[in-house]
Amino acid sequence: MRVPSRRPVVPLVALFAVVAAGCAYRRTCIRPEDPTAPSREAVYVKFLGVGGFLIRLGDDAILTAPLYTNPTIGEIALQKVHPDHRLIEALLPPVDDVEAILSGHSHFDHLMDVPYVAVHRAQRAVIYGNDEMPKLLGSLATPKGPLENRLVSLETLARDKVESLRCLADCTNVQAYTQVGNVRIWPIVSEHSPQFKVSIPFVGRLPDVHLWRGTLMEPPGRLPDSVSGWVEGTALAYLIDFMDGDRVAFRVYYQDSGTRDPYGFPPKCLLKQKAVDLALLCAGGTDFEESHPGAIVEELKPRHVIAGHWESFLNPRTLPLPNPRWSPKDGQCKRFDEAEERIEGIPFTKPRNFAKRLRKALPPGGAYSMPCPDAWTQFAKDGDHWSLQSWSEEWTPGKK
Ligand SMILES: [Zn+2]
Repeated sequence: MRVPSRRPVVPLVALFAVVAAGCAYRRTCIRPEDPTAPSREAVYVKFLGVGGFLIRLGDDAILTAPLYTNPTIGEIALQKVHPDHRLIEALLPPVDDVEAILSGHSHFDHLMDVPYVAVHRAQRAVIYGNDEMPKLLGSLATPKGPLENRLVSLETLARDKVESLRCLADCTNVQAYTQVGNVRIWPIVSEHSPQFKVSIPFVGRLPDVHLWRGTLMEPPGRLPDSVSGWVEGTALAYLIDFMDGDRVAFRVYYQDSGTRDPYGFPPKCLLKQKAVDLALLCAGGTDFEESHPGAIVEELKPRHVIAGHWESFLNPRTLPLPNPRWSPKDGQCKRFDEAEERIEGIPFTKPRNFAKRLRKALPPGGAYSMPCPDAWTQFAKDGDHWSLQSWSEEWTPGKK
């Protein structure tokens, strides 16, 4: 049974309006080659699309929940959505060594492809999320036993332990995290921004629309086949620490929905202990939260930001992907027009506004990238900092 917490009734026309009014932003993307000899000392980060990132350092690999299925508006309107195994297999890079999959909330555009990935591709990964996640995925079986053995909610840890750190001036020796391999994960109570707004001529702007909220009283017993079945639950953000012994070697901040102070903001004592090296921020919903991403960037002061969730999760990519190697001019090792892929922007959000606010808020020396899906970056240790080592996508410096 689901308890809808102030969940609005959503007429289908409103959903269609999302598509009709959105998608003004689009980019031309070319799928990059991966680095030929990735260094084990470098941090490798690959954007997978929507909220998905693959992060590697040494033997440790973490995945944030990717979405490749991108159900169309027609499928959503008919309330029939299923993971597209063909797209996942074609687009997901090797993840068999991934130790953890993180999801901040349980909407379909974050969690729907995770069961397939966990059962078939990242077979040893523990899946972390909010309280709804184990209820939604717990019915699944894998060849090695029930998936529920690998599902962990971090919501109580976030609410009871990490929240209490806000009263502390010093977090030294506090253990309000969960650990997998050499990676410590600190969950932070966050929130989800509205998805869109509707204005009616002569009536004015209606209240912002926030879909698929709520919690589950009990597990549904099977995976949802409608988007409304993927209920949001409590949104979480994360600090992800790649450890070198007892020392944090590389700190990542991850969010899969835009935030405003204090939601999704790490306790100050944690930031005092170790600065954020890389923030993975959500561009979706920016136009409904004026302070995003400025406030979180000013708080974290990260040297590097990669923005995700800027592309439309309602447009599945077309297979086969354009590939320059298939061109008759392949021998020239040149990229040709036919290798280009058009990626639509997320409905009702202007990624350029997000980038403008981001540029303003970045600390001196800070830089950001809003990459095409499949783009990658490597960071190398540079004294006390991590610097860009190699990358497949443009990086833009902040403005100060
Ligand atoms: Zn969401």
